Amino acid sequence: MAAATMVGCKHATPDPEINYNVDRFADIEVLRYTVPGFDSLSLNQKKLIYYLQEAAITGRDIIWDQNCKYNLPIRNMLEGVYTAYNGDRNDEQYQAFETYLKQVEFANGIHHHYSMDKFQPAFSREWFEKQVEAAGVKPENFNELAEVMFNPEVMAKRVNQADGVDLIATSACNLYGGGITQQEVEDYYNKLKDPNDPTPVSYGLNSRLVKLPDGTIVEELYKVGGVYGPYIEKIVNLLTEASKYAENDAQKNYIDKLIAFYTTGDLKTFDDYSIAWVEDTASDVDFINGFIESYGDPLGMTAQYESIVNFKNHEASHRTEVVSQNAQWFEDHSPVDERFRKPEVKGVSAKVITAAILAGDSYPATPIGINLPNANWIRAAHGSKSVTLENITEAYDIAARGNGFAEEFVIDEPTRQLMEDYGFVTDNMHTDLHECLGHGSGRLLPGVDPDALKAHGSTLEEARADLFALYYLADPKLIELGLLDNPEAYKAEYYKYMMNGLMTQLVRIEPGKDLEEAHMRNRQLIARWVYEKGADQKVVELVKKDGKTYVQVNDYEALRNLFGQLLAEIQRIKSEGDYAAGRQLVEDYAVKVDPELHQEVLDRYNALGIAPYKGFVNPVYSLETDANGEITDVKVSYTEDFLPQVLRYSKEYSVK
Ligand code: ZN
Repeated sequence: MAAATMVGCKHATPDPEINYNVDRFADIEVLRYTVPGFDSLSLNQKKLIYYLQEAAITGRDIIWDQNCKYNLPIRNMLEGVYTAYNGDRNDEQYQAFETYLKQVEFANGIHHHYSMDKFQPAFSREWFEKQVEAAGVKPENFNELAEVMFNPEVMAKRVNQADGVDLIATSACNLYGGGITQQEVEDYYNKLKDPNDPTPVSYGLNSRLVKLPDGTIVEELYKVGGVYGPYIEKIVNLLTEASKYAENDAQKNYIDKLIAFYTTGDLKTFDDYSIAWVEDTASDVDFINGFIESYGDPLGMTAQYESIVNFKNHEASHRTEVVSQNAQWFEDHSPVDERFRKPEVKGVSAKVITAAILAGDSYPATPIGINLPNANWIRAAHGSKSVTLENITEAYDIAARGNGFAEEFVIDEPTRQLMEDYGFVTDNMHTDLHECLGHGSGRLLPGVDPDALKAHGSTLEEARADLFALYYLADPKLIELGLLDNPEAYKAEYYKYMMNGLMTQLVRIEPGKDLEEAHMRNRQLIARWVYEKGADQKVVELVKKDGKTYVQVNDYEALRNLFGQLLAEIQRIKSEGDYAAGRQLVEDYAVKVDPELHQEVLDRYNALGIAPYKGFVNPVYSLETDANGEITDVKVSYTEDFLPQVLRYSKEYSVK
């Protein structure tokens, strides 16, 4: 997955009728994306998208409950208080309450969506209790819920990744139950796993593992009639409606398989669905809906509810089609040892898409690129689908316009101009190369365990994909293929990458803390490594002007060579399963932060007033019908604001 990067450079054209900057609170900015091309879809495609987006939003409460078992009852109180409140809205307590409500709504729960730390309310428990009583929403277990909200020691972190403690006991997420220990979970799944099975299912993907009072361990499935049954049943009904408007048999087939999976909870059926899904490359409309990514589980097994509905952007997809048609050339010319290259690259299907709805774990904060399915054996045998969400990157781009960021952090006017001209196109190119070639490149030596790099696996994997993209961004092949029109264009992305990795991404970190998130670690690993290795030749320098630090790239070609060297080393580490070397790289370059530079970056950034985290409100779809109730059109609107949207979702999509 590619997380959003920090700076957008200018390219997309905003519509003056639309308010793109929807809300701003705490460390968050809520933006709006549009859905260009929706009106030109056929009526059948519009109906298909309409029912799929209804299905998408219907699973919203599942992610809330998965994130923490107290989230939904706390949300009930917060929304009840907000709706009933008729006191002074300038009151300090109330203002703090409204910020907290927005933070919780944005994070799908009481923990920060990125740092995983619990939010600390800045209003008093006494004030809150009074409001809850006045609003008539005080539950019987108010004291228990208030303890969870106000006591910083209780449920402090949603997903704990720290070494040496029981990760289930120390994580607040709600994916396991009955006080089961990490050891018991590992034993349970190890017993099920057959190391010789060439097509293993994704154990634990859709279940809550629970220890009963008598000590027996049961796996409760997410399915119709099981955990989250009422929600899943509604999703199934909407998918059934959607499948009537499928574009072709292949699409209908995979929708039906997804329904079968939701009905039975059977993981073999999930694999059948994934294969049918990845093999459908002819349809324009596409979607994911279900339990897919497992970043929310400290053990990386159980997936969180997520849905993205989208359709193909034909014009922009030309770019990714050219890249994937040439996948073998890129693999053959990569600067890694021949033994670690794939002799035959297959099944990379890549496209640029327009997102129509974001839901579950992808709402309001969303990835900008996705590469699925996750099962390694399916990827090897049937390929994978890689997508870039271009209307989302455009929305970031529009929002970043004129925010003063480039003026503050980019070293000089020519570099700024280059980023202005080529930042957007090379940024999208980077995402394409990262997703459709980077992750799929290379191979393991025979007998190497794919999980050999353990806790550092995802940082090193993201670094590998980024380095592949960086290395090839500067390759004349991209000009030859018509993907870039200027041999200097890549410098825009190189500069941005180094500035972000060495300095500006630190705005997401609190003073005194280390880097934890895999994408951030990977970026710093790359930037710090090439900075250090190129120090003698002064390839990249940190220079001071008027007391401010800037990144200065002196030799872009040498920088490319360093990216190539690091790619070769990280591919070696992965191919050989060299845990010790991988761990050393991460510890030396990816984790620690220079406190002085960090503080300087924070001060300069805070003076600009830009939020370090961004997310989106969704468009609103509505059906138009004739006198007989027949659907004649589906309309999309871009006027709903953040709190009205989430409050409406809670009201219309909760199963009471
Ligand atoms: Zn990635």
